[in-house]
Amino acid sequence: MNISDVKAKRIRKALVSWYLKHKRKMPWRETRDPYRTWLSEVMLQQAQVKTVIPYYHRFLERFPTIEALARGDLQDILKMWEGLGYYARARNFHRATGIVTRDYGGSVPADWETFIQLPGVGEYTAAAVQSLAFGHPHAVVDGNVKRVLARLFAIEDPVNRPKAYKQFKDIAGTLLDREQPGNFNQAIMELGALICKPARPTCDHCPVQPDCISYQHDRVDEFPKKEKRKPVPTLQMVAGVIRKKGRFLITRRKPAGLLGGLWEFPGGELQKGEAAAAGCIRAIQDKTGLKVDTDKRLARINHAYTHFKITLEVFVCQVRPGSRVRLNGPVDFDWVRPEQLDDYAFPKANLKFMHLIV
Ligand code: SF4
Repeated sequence: MNISDVKAKRIRKALVSWYLKHKRKMPWRETRDPYRTWLSEVMLQQAQVKTVIPYYHRFLERFPTIEALARGDLQDILKMWEGLGYYARARNFHRATGIVTRDYGGSVPADWETFIQLPGVGEYTAAAVQSLAFGHPHAVVDGNVKRVLARLFAIEDPVNRPKAYKQFKDIAGTLLDREQPGNFNQAIMELGALICKPARPTCDHCPVQPDCISYQHDRVDEFPKKEKRKPVPTLQMVAGVIRKKGRFLITRRKPAGLLGGLWEFPGGELQKGEAAAAGCIRAIQDKTGLKVDTDKRLARINHAYTHFKITLEVFVCQVRPGSRVRLNGPVDFDWVRPEQLDDYAFPKANLKFMHLIV
């Protein structure tokens, strides 16, 4: 796409001036410390600003420096992350800070090539940290940026088609303010969050309205175009709250993969045609070796992940006499009292029924 220098300059200037006047106060905007900027960007992926703010403060209180985090215990880190979801981000961030401490003397690499090699650092995070913390000219492309550009230039390619990414990246790169890339990147994302919102954009307050092709042609509602995705499947899951002498059995998931390293109440996916209570007994035996009986149904929870949803039926279970734990899948287990549950990091689907356990 050809964008004249004059038009690019006009858009860039309008965006940055608008941002400097209207930007929201956020704790990570008050610093250019690369560790803090990096942490905020990792937390903000898939989470809203108001959700992230308390996590950000608590995390920095506990791990004020990159070295403190690198030395930190993964279980503590997962506990601090509990409820934010996407736990692979926390595990990767921990690993990455370990590498930064060991190989780069605790300084976040100030060059793209080195930084993007670190675990969990993709193009978005690299562009955000390199521009915001170091002032290097890299344009960010996230959902907000794609939506703004799709409307501004009436881009017909669906924003969720992976092949379209390069086009958005090139346009963002053309518009980028190379003198103040951090401000520019924040400006376009902030415009997407506050003005050019997914529904009902407030074009009357938009600083780039004179250059917006979809607005000028009264086609704002048509953009961004999206490719239809297959509906996400719903998995039927079961879990058991297994009581023994006032304690409950929890197991720890393998370190890698979905919810890796987190603790949970044991269970699994129902097999085809299996009744929930019978499936719970079977899944617990498969995973823990324990023979149990179900007592009563404690809860029915719905939870959505990125690529699937789950319905989780939770049963209170009793251990049959003489039965012992022999793990098959989980890497650890513990028998805990209700007041100890707070010491372990659990997935959100488990947190949703935990208040019912006494
Ligand atoms: Fe978005 Fe409207 Fe601004 Fe165009 S004029 S960029 S559609 S807010």
